[in-house]
Amino acid sequence: MKPWFPTHEVFIGGVWHGAGERLPLEDPSTGAVIGEIAGGQAAEIDAAVAAARAALSGDWGRATAAERGRVLTRIGQLVLERVEELAAIEASDVGKPLKQARADAIALARYCEFYGGAADKVMGQTIPYLEGYTVYTLREPHGVTGHIVPWNYPMQIIGRSVGAALAMGNACVLKPAEEACLTALAFARIAEQAGLPPGALNVVPGLGEAAGAALAAHPGINHISFTGSVAVGALVQAAAARNVVPVTLELGGKSPQVVFADADLEAALPFLVNAGIQNAGQTCSASSRILIERSRHDELIERMGARYRALRVGPASADLDVGPLISARQKEIVTGYLGQAADLEVAATGEIAGNAPAGGHYVAPHLLAGAAPDHRLAREEIFGPVQVVLPFDDEEEAVAIANGTEFGLVASVWSRDGGRQMRMAKRLHAGQVFVNNYGAGGGVELPFGGVGKSGHGREKGFEALYGFSSLKTVAAHHG
Ligand code: NAD
Repeated sequence: MKPWFPTHEVFIGGVWHGAGERLPLEDPSTGAVIGEIAGGQAAEIDAAVAAARAALSGDWGRATAAERGRVLTRIGQLVLERVEELAAIEASDVGKPLKQARADAIALARYCEFYGGAADKVMGQTIPYLEGYTVYTLREPHGVTGHIVPWNYPMQIIGRSVGAALAMGNACVLKPAEEACLTALAFARIAEQAGLPPGALNVVPGLGEAAGAALAAHPGINHISFTGSVAVGALVQAAAARNVVPVTLELGGKSPQVVFADADLEAALPFLVNAGIQNAGQTCSASSRILIERSRHDELIERMGARYRALRVGPASADLDVGPLISARQKEIVTGYLGQAADLEVAATGEIAGNAPAGGHYVAPHLLAGAAPDHRLAREEIFGPVQVVLPFDDEEEAVAIANGTEFGLVASVWSRDGGRQMRMAKRLHAGQVFVNNYGAGGGVELPFGGVGKSGHGREKGFEALYGFSSLKTVAAHHG
């Protein structure tokens, strides 16, 4: 499909520019280089920050909350009109099956609708104080916000972070991932068509160590939203500390689903498996650990195994259950982990379709059993289609295993016992807990973020609007 936007340019101040460098664009389903993207550098980041700053003192800075909401809502409508085109672009860029890319495009539209509708509903407080005073609070934009986005869910992550930032009146500089930046550029074109004033959104694709590092360290940035790995998140936070600006870090996970013997296993099964293989397991909130009460361990392995054996892996365009991994490097990481599973039992695998292109980065989904909770594969984020099943004997042990990693992003509890549901929801170390369901990445309306090495700050839902604004207290003495 022919894109309707320039794929090798940067978008700064409402104008499409060539960048000094170009980077290859690879199709993960075939491994073939199919084009070029811009390789933005510090110079483009400087220009983008300046354009964003100018927008704040221009039309965008003067827009009312209702006007900001209206333009976001319009962007959402245009995204909805282009769902199929956006899905096709994302599927080829990321390698995800078309149905998953379509769901991401619809989620992007939902974020724009949600934050469009919320823009004029963020209110302050009046605070009782001393005699002769009126005190109230105002929510103000930070100013220029930087958004560093990974390759796994570009549309969803742009929607949740840029959508909320624009709703609050910030001007954004977006640095998408070098592996998958096309829908970020498409989004910029759509925003332009919807009438977003120049400079309110700037997009600079480029390498992390070039454009990303320049953005994180830029003294003109007032807030950074980073989604990605723990290692890079720590670098971004250090860079932000030097400028004393707030940071939201959305990092990795090793999210558990805890299944008790009284659970409705039939209802749980699709959630247990899908949350591990969705987007080929390259999901921050993938559920890569399944904890099962020992009395039903073998039954669970058997029933999850049957589903695994039916999983088909192939190119994004074939729209099977699982696509390729994003890159040869990611495949090397995942197969490296599987190489360390010699002491575990491979309970079941999926199957790579016979006609999957030889150059694509395919890994068959693996369901593993027999791991001790401190096994590397049961503790570290693999970021591939691999799930580890761990038995437990009672609630106490379930909590200890579930909380036994350095992460805390999402967790779920499957049980019919209401008291147990509530106890577990309180005790699980995670930013989101699902009871008798699991939402890997879902829920535009639901605040999302981590504890521990999964990061800090919250995006999604109304809560994100507080993160993308700062609170001013006005104390007026009138006698
Ligand atoms: P990554 O950290 O390598 O890259 C993420 C982004 O950071 C990319 O845009 C990249 O170009 C940029 N970057 C790289 N080096 C940089 C630097 N030195 N300074 C500034 N920016 C830099 O992560 P990845 O491998 O692309 O993504 C996978 C990781 O992201 C996993 O750990 C996953 O769990 C996490 N993730 C988390 C969430 C979440 O919401 N919590 C969502 C998606 C992915």
